[in-house]
Amino acid sequence: LLHNALIELRGNIRVHCRVRPVLPLDGGQGTSSVSGSPWSQEVVQAISDDTVLVNCAKAGSPIMNKMFEFERVHAPEDSQDAVFEEVKPLLTSLLDGYNVCIMAYGQTGSGKTHTMIGSQDSSGPEQENMQGIIPKAAAELFRLISEQPEGTHTVEVSVVEVYNNEVLDLLAKDEEGAAVGMKRDVITTSTGTSEVPCLTHELVQSPADVLCLLSAVLRLRAQSPTLIHTDSSRSHLIVTLTVTSRSPNALALARRLQRVRQDTQRVSHREWWSPRCQRAASSRRPAEDHTLSPASKRRPAGDRAYSPTSSPCLSPCHSPCPSPRSSISQTPLRTKLQLVDLAGSECVGVSGVTGAALWESSCINRSLSALSDVLGALAEQRPHVPYRNSKLTHLLQDSIGGDAKLLVMLCVSPAQRFLSDSLQTLGFGSRAR
Ligand code: ADP
Ligand code: MG
Repeated sequence: LLHNALIELRGNIRVHCRVRPVLPLDGGQGTSSVSGSPWSQEVVQAISDDTVLVNCAKAGSPIMNKMFEFERVHAPEDSQDAVFEEVKPLLTSLLDGYNVCIMAYGQTGSGKTHTMIGSQDSSGPEQENMQGIIPKAAAELFRLISEQPEGTHTVEVSVVEVYNNEVLDLLAKDEEGAAVGMKRDVITTSTGTSEVPCLTHELVQSPADVLCLLSAVLRLRAQSPTLIHTDSSRSHLIVTLTVTSRSPNALALARRLQRVRQDTQRVSHREWWSPRCQRAASSRRPAEDHTLSPASKRRPAGDRAYSPTSSPCLSPCHSPCPSPRSSISQTPLRTKLQLVDLAGSECVGVSGVTGAALWESSCINRSLSALSDVLGALAEQRPHVPYRNSKLTHLLQDSIGGDAKLLVMLCVSPAQRFLSDSLQTLGFGSRAR
C-alpha cells in the first residue's frame, strides 16, 4: 500500500512546456517586423516531443546548448486542440475522485493566457480552435457528465484573483448587483483542506455558462475601478470548477476513498518515512521505473500517470482527513479542478522602483518562489510542504500534492529577447519534477 502510495505521489506532478511562435513582440520595442531583429532570433526550440534545446551562446554562458526534458513539449505550430489532447485525461480523473490543478507559468507575453483562456471571443463554433484549456476543459467535463445518470452531478464555478498577496472574489456582487472584486481570506478547515469563507460559487449547467462567467470576469478585470491594478499579468487568476457527484458509483467511490484515506492516515509520518519506506522510494528512482520516468517518446493515449483506471487516492499524512466512518455512507463525491493563469514570472528590476510598484513586484516574486518551494518539497517527497507561506499556495493546497494531480504548463517565447526569462521558466519546471 505504502509503496503504491509513493508511486502515486511521484506520478502526480507533470510538467509540460509550450514554445510559442515568434511574434512581433519578440522584435524589441518599436519593431513591428518579426524577421530582421537580432532579438527575434529563435534560440529556444522544441526538438522533440519531450525535449527543449536552448542556445545560450549569446547570453554569455560558457555552455553553448542546454537541454531540458519534460513529460511533453509542444512546438510553436501545435494547435490549441493538440495541447488540450494531452490535458484531457485529467478531466476523467476529476470524476474519478481526484482533485486536479492545471497552471500556466512563464514571463509576460509567453502565452499563458493564450494557453489557459485562448481567444476571448471564442463562443462561436468557428472560434473553437482558438479556445484555451479552460473553455475546452469545461466542455469536456460536461460531455463526461452527460454520460452519467441524469441529475447526479452538479458543477459550481468560483473565480479569484491573487494580487499583492490578497485574495479577490471576482464573482462577488455589491448590493446593486454590480460585479466587484471583494477581498476574502483563505483558511484551513478542521479537516485540513483550504477554504475561502464567503466565496461566491455560481452553479453552472453548461460550458456556455462557464464561458459567460469567464467573459464577465475578464471584463471586470479590465475595467473595474475597484480593482486597483489594470495590468492582469501582475496577478494570479484561479478559476475553480467544483464537481459534486451523487451517482451510485460516485457514492461508492467516495466511501472507498474515505476508507483508504483513513487507513493511510493511520500511518504516522514516522512510519511513512521509516528507513524501509525510504528504501522503497529510492529503489524506484525515475530512471529505473517506467511509471515514474519522464514521458516516453511514444506517449500512449492512456498515459499511466493520469490513467483514469489507476487506483485512486492514497493521501499522505498531511492531506485532508475525513470525518468518522459512521457518517460517510451518503457523502457525495466532491472534487475540484483549479485552473491557474499565473502572474508574469519575469524578474522585474527593483532598483529605482518604489512604493506600490515595488510592493507589487515583491508580492509576485514571493508568491512564485513559495510555489517553487511547494513543488520542490513535493518533488523531493519531503514530509513538510510549506503551503501556507503564501495565499497562492494556500489556495491551491487541495489540488497540489497529496493524491491530487498537477500539470504545470511552462510557456516560453522562442526568441533571443526573452532568453533569460525562458531559462528561468525552464529551470522552475525542472525543479518541480
Ligand atoms: P501571457 O499571458 O503569458 O502574458 P499571452 O497569452 O497574452 O501571454 O500571449 C502574448 C501574445 O502572444 C498574445 O497576443 C497571444 O495571442 C500570442 N500568443 C501566445 N501564444 C501563442 C501561440 N501558441 N500561437 C499564437 N499566438 C500566441
Ligand atoms: Mg496573460
